[in-house]
Amino acid sequence: MNKITVAIDGFSSCGKSTMAKELAKEVGYIYVDTGAMYRAVSLFCIQNGWMTDTDMDVVEIEKQISTIHIEFRANEAGKSETYLNGVNVEPQIRTLEVANGASRVSTLGFVRRELVRQQQLMGLQKGIVMDGRDIGTVVFPDAELKIFLTASPEIRAQRRLDEMAASGDIVDYEAVLANVKERDDRDQNRTESPLRKANDAVVIDNSNLSLQEQRQLLRTLFQQKTL
Ligand code: C5P
Repeated sequence: MNKITVAIDGFSSCGKSTMAKELAKEVGYIYVDTGAMYRAVSLFCIQNGWMTDTDMDVVEIEKQISTIHIEFRANEAGKSETYLNGVNVEPQIRTLEVANGASRVSTLGFVRRELVRQQQLMGLQKGIVMDGRDIGTVVFPDAELKIFLTASPEIRAQRRLDEMAASGDIVDYEAVLANVKERDDRDQNRTESPLRKANDAVVIDNSNLSLQEQRQLLRTLFQQKTL
């Protein structure tokens, strides 16, 4: 069967990674979570004091960007985890603070260019499912299958809250909703590669879809492209 490239883009907390991960596993493709790469850059900047709640040392970040090495390694259970310069940072990159920082560093053109370069290298052989914001528009404009996932901000905030509660983080719903809206706004309105649906992407609004329905839909779309 011919291998294709699958690009899954959309708003934050839409369930893109769940969908992408499941499909990759089912069809034996590599899965790449590009959001985790922006989160790793964010963590690196926070750890080094180049980013605070109010400031970003753009000059220093640009100087250091080539020293940031991000990779994914599977843990014992087969789950892919993010490594920053050889250190497993998977739990640290999932906090609200790091997510918010990721949405800020992702507005910087030189950060995007470096990460896009790395993402394109990962996809050279095809057989890859990548999720993010600019995969179908910038990283792989020739991807055979492009999905644009969306859901209402309220539903996404509730899902994010449930996820965080499951890992023991008790966060206020209004704070999560505000974070979701703030990131949507920044993703759509930044000058560098703003979040856009590619012309040839299939839109899936999963506000009222079960995981099973989504899975079925994605599987059908994938089969149509690989026949
Ligand atoms: O998908 P996730 O929420 O983990 O992404 C974290 C942040 O990284 C997003 O809010 C978005 O601003 C940024 N991002 C991006 N381009 C991508 C993936 C993520 O700008 N391809």
